[in-house]
Amino acid sequence: MKKTSVIVIGAGVAGIAAAARLAQQGLHVTVLEKNPQAGGRCDRICREGHHFDTGPTLLVMPLLYEAEFAALGCSAREMLQLQRVDPTYHLVFDDGSQLALTSDLHSMRRQLESIEPKSFPGFLRYLEEGHRHYHLGMERLVNRDFRRASDFFTLGNLPLLIQLKPFIGHYRNMSAYFDEPRLKAAFTFQDVYMGLSPFEAPATFSMMPYSELAHGVWYPKGGMRRVVEALMEIARAAGVEFVFDASVARIDASADRARGVVLADGRRLEAEVMLANADLPYVYRELLPQDERANQLEKKRFSCSVVSFFWGLDKKYEALNPHTLFLADDYRQNFKSIIDDLTIPENPSLYIHAPARLDPSMAPAGEDTLIAIVPVGHMGRNGGQDWGEIQDQARGHVFRRLKSLGITDLADHIKFEINFTPPSWRKRYNLMKGATHGLCHNLTQLGYFRPSNRHARYLNLYFAGASTRPGTGIPTALVSGRLAAERIMDELGG
Ligand SMILES: Cc1cc2nc3c(=O)[nH]c(=O)nc-3n(C[C@H](O)[C@H](O)[C@H](O)COP(=O)(O)OP(=O)(O)OC[C@H]3O[C@@H](n4cnc5c(N)ncnc54)[C@H](O)[C@@H]3O)c2cc1C
Repeated sequence: MKKTSVIVIGAGVAGIAAAARLAQQGLHVTVLEKNPQAGGRCDRICREGHHFDTGPTLLVMPLLYEAEFAALGCSAREMLQLQRVDPTYHLVFDDGSQLALTSDLHSMRRQLESIEPKSFPGFLRYLEEGHRHYHLGMERLVNRDFRRASDFFTLGNLPLLIQLKPFIGHYRNMSAYFDEPRLKAAFTFQDVYMGLSPFEAPATFSMMPYSELAHGVWYPKGGMRRVVEALMEIARAAGVEFVFDASVARIDASADRARGVVLADGRRLEAEVMLANADLPYVYRELLPQDERANQLEKKRFSCSVVSFFWGLDKKYEALNPHTLFLADDYRQNFKSIIDDLTIPENPSLYIHAPARLDPSMAPAGEDTLIAIVPVGHMGRNGGQDWGEIQDQARGHVFRRLKSLGITDLADHIKFEINFTPPSWRKRYNLMKGATHGLCHNLTQLGYFRPSNRHARYLNLYFAGASTRPGTGIPTALVSGRLAAERIMDELGG
């Protein structure tokens, strides 16, 4: 019997996960990827023996990886050879004080109380709330497909309006647990992963710091890229066909069907089912016949972006921990600059990753591999941002911050630099506005309110990825791929 044919546009994590699942169900799946390799934002650059994960560097929410790999018939633990990273982050504050976030509660008590006396019970209560939010959030929001409004607006979901604290700001909610601004920052900065400021993120997101401490932050042997390699092994074993350097220029669609795609080189391909993994607002704007929906999506709130530096160093900085985060005192202003003013803060919070501390093979012997990420605004509608200038400022801030840790000679030991600015993110992965996390996760863009996994008019066109449901991050991309694939299978069956 002829197999139903599926075209997947994009070999990001959500695209590969969906493709693997559909092929395992007996469909004929072809994945078209514009870049020469799979992975999308979970990308890898290698140069002179230095290996850089260019997007994700933290394997968080490991329970989701386990569940999603198990749903594909595999074991995440076995395939990824995970090691736990504990302490997770080394936080450095403007006054030089530090906090190593760890699941060792004795150490946490000592460290927290040296910053704010008697704060440890507040920390335990915060974890309790995070635990509640995590489990409810996973069960009722993340792992759910809201195909109809009635799947979301149920009597059973009503108590969530109290239980998940969606109408209370995350930062404001911290006053119930801590007085010290440094501690409020230490357990809310993760909101930036959702593209949000803690001053507007719902308190629901305490699930993130909770999960990092309770379930751990992990590192696959060989880095985050290993997640993509593992998924590709699963997908290829199921029979998925990958075509690289195949940029889709247009989706042919008419009446209520998507018919096929036209590639940039003019080739046409047809399929019975289409799944777009490329950034959803971009798909509406650039690939589909124009309609009002593309304008509506463009007006939605987008996440921030980042300037990233990838440095190959001829010296090893052994004292540098795997994940170091510099948190600025002017925390509120930092988010305002990034999110409202679309620029770089005067004194930005920033993150530095030294992968060779976790896996020595990430750098040549005696040398080091360093990644620095500085959050900045996404590209403005009318341009006007001088990315060269912003990038120079960002680099200067990284050097300044490292000096405060006693690393004064970094600039002298850089063999080469590769860097990404918001226009690079847009160009490499077709991310609208160069927003690294796609549409952000404010209340009106969460759950049922996030763009659906299926097109409203073209009923055989589905979506999987960061800007659709459930949202951004590698584990959620895995869930998104599964939700889209399950819907396709259900609707083909029906
Ligand atoms: C700097 C940074 C740090 C991050 N850190 C973390 C982290 O530590 N932990 C974590 O879990 N998550 C992290 N994330 C988020 C995570 O990387 C993303 O949410 C996830 O990779 C998104 O996967 P996706 O499948 O939705 O989309 P993408 O990765 O965007 O995949 C879409 C694919 O579609 C392709 N494509 C686009 N247009 C076309 C076209 N016209 N034709 C053909 N192909 C096309 C793209 O090239 C791409 O390969 C980070 C992201 C960034 C950018």
